[in-house]
Amino acid sequence: MPLALDTALTYVKGIGPARAAMLLAKGLETVEDLLQYFPFRYEDRSNLKSIAELAPGEQATVIAEVRSSKVSGFRRRNLGLFEAEFTDSSRAILLAKWFHGAYMADRLTPGTRVALFGKIEFDSYKGELQMMHPETELLGSDEDDDDSAIHTGRIVPVYEAAGKVNTRALRVLIHRILQDISELEDRLPESIRTHLRFPGRTEAIRSVHFPASGMPVHILNDFRSPAQFRLIFEEFFWLECGLEIKRQKARLMPGIEFQLTDRVREQIKKLLPFKPTGAQKRVLKEIAEDMAHPSPMNRLLQGDVGSGKTIVAAESAVIALENGYQVVILAPTEILATQHYFSLKPLLEKLGYAVALLTGSNTAREKVKIKELLRSGLVPVAIGTHALIEKDVEFARLGLVVIDEQHRFGVMQRFQLVQKGITPDVLVMTATPIPRTLAMTLYGDLDVSTIDELPPGRRKIVTKHLTSDQVELAYSALKREVDNGRQGYVVYPVIEESETQAMKAAQQMYEHLSQEVFPDVPVGLLHGRLGTAEKEAAMQAFKSGRTKILVSTTVIEVGVDVPNATMMLIEQAERFGLSQLHQLRGRVGRGGEQSYCMLITEKLNDTGKERIRTLVDSQDGFVIAEMDLKLRGPGEFFGTKQSGLPSLRIANILRDPDILVAARHEARSFVEHPPSRQAFAEAVEYIKNHWQRRYGLVQVG
Ligand code: ADP
Ligand code: MG
Repeated sequence: MPLALDTALTYVKGIGPARAAMLLAKGLETVEDLLQYFPFRYEDRSNLKSIAELAPGEQATVIAEVRSSKVSGFRRRNLGLFEAEFTDSSRAILLAKWFHGAYMADRLTPGTRVALFGKIEFDSYKGELQMMHPETELLGSDEDDDDSAIHTGRIVPVYEAAGKVNTRALRVLIHRILQDISELEDRLPESIRTHLRFPGRTEAIRSVHFPASGMPVHILNDFRSPAQFRLIFEEFFWLECGLEIKRQKARLMPGIEFQLTDRVREQIKKLLPFKPTGAQKRVLKEIAEDMAHPSPMNRLLQGDVGSGKTIVAAESAVIALENGYQVVILAPTEILATQHYFSLKPLLEKLGYAVALLTGSNTAREKVKIKELLRSGLVPVAIGTHALIEKDVEFARLGLVVIDEQHRFGVMQRFQLVQKGITPDVLVMTATPIPRTLAMTLYGDLDVSTIDELPPGRRKIVTKHLTSDQVELAYSALKREVDNGRQGYVVYPVIEESETQAMKAAQQMYEHLSQEVFPDVPVGLLHGRLGTAEKEAAMQAFKSGRTKILVSTTVIEVGVDVPNATMMLIEQAERFGLSQLHQLRGRVGRGGEQSYCMLITEKLNDTGKERIRTLVDSQDGFVIAEMDLKLRGPGEFFGTKQSGLPSLRIANILRDPDILVAARHEARSFVEHPPSRQAFAEAVEYIKNHWQRRYGLVQVG
């Protein structure tokens, strides 16, 4: 009987409980999971070169036997250098070396047959060819290995090991499964398949694992064989379909039709302390039209640091408030919520709207009182953290939800909140410009408004990189600014898990700076562990110019707005993400004066150097975000927790943006004009059953 896709892997020959557990740890539970566990690289072992035929500089796979090996240096703790000599039928010698490789000694004993993959170099000292740290795969001797035809004499797939289930074992298991399954159903719409001349799904899966001979291996390693293209396209297609269906569904829900009366316009004008930029006007128009539309708004507002998003959010709030609705502004941390509170409260109170702040540090009594005020509708604006989405928080008439830094919230939470009102409008603000590809996968269900212009009169912030032994230079530059009547920040990295430690570091630095470096300059201190009142006091003192230097942890990352500050000094800059550094830098250059940013680093590797250079060279948040994404990968891009990123099986947004764009296009037109109701219903069902859990597509269909 053929294997069914949902068969548990324990029923597959060769998978016992131990292996099953290791596979499970990688999320591989069923036959289907393993079929979709794709190779990350390929080696051409179809016409192998002998050692004698190798040339320095080339990447090659060699099948050879260990002739001798030795460990030198520290044997214990695997610190030694492991060297092995290999030979093959050509009788030439290839040397391979592994630093800290003593652990290899037990695997590569003389006589062992291995496949080696790596770059060929010439060791001029010994006059021999060598490979440094080649990838290795032990190959049984030809006679006792039934499966040897899977591992040699062809293009072979290389898999990431799952515990002790190594690439070789995976190759055998997947090969076996591919022999035992029947045809897989192909749900990709017929029209797309024909139009794009895709191979069938079964054929594609087969040849992604075991490519036909003759397929150039560099094409495979670029993931552009027809089979790979199809599977990448397919993965993006269903993801984008899911997002598009969500978007369409959301549009069908009854929402609020906000009225844009002259009075609303008047009030918005009163709110503005300055003339809006063209981009701010355009974006507000997009938001206002969306709010006036009967279906609920689901919109992402993005713009570079300092582009003036806050005021646009405030303007949107006025639209809702003037229509008699309440507004919630949600931030991921208490510090951010507090900052929004301090910047928005004066603006909105000027127009007569009371604003409440609700966070985890309110006392139980305060909370009860605030909740009562929100429930009765007496307070129209609530700013806060996740404390605001607890079950017992209710609103009299919730009309607009502004979510700052949405990616830190689970999508579920977003829905919970939305369900508190009569489908309010939702505006998601992000302080980090999001590369287009990420926006498409992460926020594909949202409409996007982008502020692509900075307020007038902004000057380029002069950015310098200094090593920690040059810190005195940075301090004297800061002193010079202070002497000229300006202000500055000194920032220390906070690692979320150990804010207490960071606080101590900031505290110590504060003492050092205030007593030794700047004894006659008033210095303030701001960190996350201060109470709300203390934070407000520290920020007020700096805003009013009573303190000239503010020593801080990253609490000032977003929202702090002191135009007289012209110097941003960041210590241990290598410990911050690129976008975060860009955010921090955005705290200066807010007035008309020339501003400076000094990035001080302690230890820098090559990537670190490239990151710092990017920042020194560019002031464009989108360019920086793209680079950050490239250097750190999508998972890290948003920092650690709850990025909400779908984990893709074969598609890769960095490598495949072109396919993503194509798939999104097809997905949109499929959802907008499905070939039939039946086809659409089937697609929804298929996404639900096969893709929903993995991609976090909550509530599709
Ligand atoms: P963002 O939140 O996008 O980083 P903010 O909303 O904090 O930016 O605005 C940055 C600074 O620019 C603030 O000091 C704000 O008052 C000011 N600003 C915003 N829009 C304008 C404008 N149109 N003209 C002049 N200054 C502006
Ligand atoms: Mg802001």
